[in-house]
Amino acid sequence: MAVPITSLRGRHYVGDLETKIVHDVIHEDPTPEGCKIWELVRSGRAVGFESDRLQQALREGYTPCPKCLYNYQLRRPAFTQRFLKGVGE
Ligand SMILES: [Zn+2]
Repeated sequence: MAVPITSLRGRHYVGDLETKIVHDVIHEDPTPEGCKIWELVRSGRAVGFESDRLQQALREGYTPCPKCLYNYQLRRPAFTQRFLKGVGE
């Protein structure tokens, strides 16, 4: 469930209601062309997720931010490969 938030406290993932992009607060791109997560909060476009997990955001139709979650697309095939090989759990 996505809920409007007015603070980043205790949040790991924050979504943009307008663009449907989800950001990783811990790895935010702080450059002028970066995520600007705080601006989302200030403009009332920020949502948090219950539970506060990337999978939850994706399930609700949010797209991983290409800046702070840039390696998400790379990570996924690696996980899949491991799964197919039966390595790990
Ligand atoms: Zn971002």
